[in-house]
Amino acid sequence: MAIEDAHNRPLLDLRISVTDRCNMRCRYCMPREHFDADYPFLPKEDILRFEEIVRIVESLIPYGLRKVRLTGGEPLLRRDLHSLIAQLRACSNELDIAMTTNGLLLKKHVAKLYQAGLSRVTVSLDALDESIFKSMGDTSANPQMVLEGIDAALEVGLSVKVNTVIKKDVNEGQIVPMVRAFGPRGVPVRFIEYMDVGTTNDWNLEHVVSAESMRDLLDDEFGSLQRNQPLHKSDVAKVYTTKEGWKIGFIESITNPFCGDCSRARLSANGSIYTCLFSNRGHDVRSILRMDGTEEDISNAIQSIWNDRTDRYSEQRSNQTEQLKVEMSYIGG
Ligand code: SAM
Ligand code: SF4
Ligand code: SF4
Repeated sequence: MAIEDAHNRPLLDLRISVTDRCNMRCRYCMPREHFDADYPFLPKEDILRFEEIVRIVESLIPYGLRKVRLTGGEPLLRRDLHSLIAQLRACSNELDIAMTTNGLLLKKHVAKLYQAGLSRVTVSLDALDESIFKSMGDTSANPQMVLEGIDAALEVGLSVKVNTVIKKDVNEGQIVPMVRAFGPRGVPVRFIEYMDVGTTNDWNLEHVVSAESMRDLLDDEFGSLQRNQPLHKSDVAKVYTTKEGWKIGFIESITNPFCGDCSRARLSANGSIYTCLFSNRGHDVRSILRMDGTEEDISNAIQSIWNDRTDRYSEQRSNQTEQLKVEMSYIGG
């Protein structure tokens, strides 16, 4: 029996932030001025232990949870992440276990993650050009490190996708080179419209490049792109194929919101459930776990949070972007 919200959307997908820390400072996500040495990152004791995360997932599987995505912050900063994956895999063979990472530590860890049961990985890479990469990520790392992580993931046999956030006048020129680099390798690139998450990235509609204009650019370069049928109603990316058979996705959160089929809940690193990426309030579940709640207590609590859900932020986006919103690095992208 599925858990449904007030608009009959089932809870199918749980994004789990395993840490609020990151080894990059992407300007659109964790600008350094704000996430500096004084930033109050979560203390260790507040962060969910792996066993606690597993209990939450276990409690939701009987209600139709089919996918989890490990994210953050940077998930590979969490020590022994492979052990969480192994524990999640032990809950169910069918569970789709994905991870989103900036890829800097992927080469080092990917073999263990794969052996533990990771199903697939999404690697964020905003530019192949070194100076654009360094400036968007406000980092001394270079894209080569990410590319080596992607190579290592493909070598062990993981399916890989690449996420690229496009910001106007910053990395639009990377759209075609990214498709040329990854298309022939069977790695879909998903272009994400720059979103107004959190309150620190100084978002402005003028910084957004619409997916439609990205497609126009790609049509000119590769010939007319063909639209694929979505596999699931709740898929966030619209997928197209070039005549060479290369797949390109677009996540149109700004120009074409997909709240109607949104089946994703988010679990923050300190154990609160958020029913929308743009929520300003989480629902504490950690205290139920730490007060020896049973599996039924946990699923009942999440069920009642989800039953009350009415979120449609992106569809209703207007002048409400001023409201206090939670940072993406905290609840997980
Ligand atoms: N650190 C990991 C990474 O970068 O892949 C996982 C967490 S990150 C918050 C997850 C995804 O959110 C990344 O693909 C990132 O590019 C995307 N993201 C972060 N801030 C964004 C924004 N303002 N607009 C669009 N996408 C954003
Ligand atoms: Fe870190 Fe990912 Fe946010 Fe960049 S997008 S700052 S890599 S959490
Ligand atoms: Fe889902 Fe909220 Fe995004 Fe709409 S705005 S798609 S409800 S996370």
